[in-house]
Amino acid sequence: MADRDRRERGPATLAAPGRVKDLSSVANPIVKDIRALSQKKHRDETGLFLAEGLKLVLDALDAGWTLRTLAVAKAEIHGELLQKTAARARAVGADVVEGSAKVMEAISRRDNPQSAIGVFRQKTVPLDKLGFGADGVVVALDRVRDPGNLGTILRTADAAGAKGLVLVGECVDPFSLEAVRATMGSIFAVPLARVSESAFLEWRKGFKGLVAGTHMRGTLDYREPDYSGRPVVLLMGNEQAGLSEPLAGACDKLLRIPQAGRADSLNLAVATGVMLFEARRKALTL
Ligand code: SAM
Repeated sequence: MADRDRRERGPATLAAPGRVKDLSSVANPIVKDIRALSQKKHRDETGLFLAEGLKLVLDALDAGWTLRTLAVAKAEIHGELLQKTAARARAVGADVVEGSAKVMEAISRRDNPQSAIGVFRQKTVPLDKLGFGADGVVVALDRVRDPGNLGTILRTADAAGAKGLVLVGECVDPFSLEAVRATMGSIFAVPLARVSESAFLEWRKGFKGLVAGTHMRGTLDYREPDYSGRPVVLLMGNEQAGLSEPLAGACDKLLRIPQAGRADSLNLAVATGVMLFEARRKALTL
């Protein structure tokens, strides 16, 4: 099957929508296909990913994400919300499979699996389609490596009302189980763009707002700029190497968060949180 066809349709066993199957064996090909999505290679090939938990699945459906397969715990199928979710899944043409406890554990690779696990189609937006509005804030991450950091940043960006997240260069997969778990559902709420460094630098030339980079050698206090009233990109560096030279050179300002104590730097997700809530300070009220 050509790569493109495979991405469109996914593996054969995940392809036929609307059916309900009772799965008790982890050797079942459907279970094997779903389990394979814990590997990046299979996520890339199929364009699919896993999201666990009833609330997450419902949030994703509300946000218009495409559900391909819903695996529900057979032992809990009589629960009202689970029934409703399964009915919604069938209504959007997804395959609904009822899994034994062993099967649910195998899919989630956890002892205590959630009662529902959804197989969704991955979604990203082109960088030039990210809607900044007049004064939106977008986070751009240079080669982020840690899935927990990425998930936490997506969750924080959602909470701060950011308009999107841009992954620049070779980044960890945002659709890995670990990253998706750490987003707590915000993967479905924050538009995500993925670009090479050169594509970002090219796009930056036409960007009229503020590109604020954070750097351990930044000379300006991060509380100095006025972030309000204009679109803002907060550019954050890699966990080990910080911002690349070309990206640092493309920033309007290089900012630093003053620190006390012995720590060399803040954790990337923490630094992003500090920056986001400062940049959005005037827009956020209780
Ligand atoms: N050794 C790296 C360096 O020297 O850049 C440390 C990188 S730090 C763990 C990851 C990223 O978080 C940095 O590139 C920067 O974007 C941000 N960061 C962490 N602490 C910061 C601070 N005090 N001021 C500004 N940015 C900070």
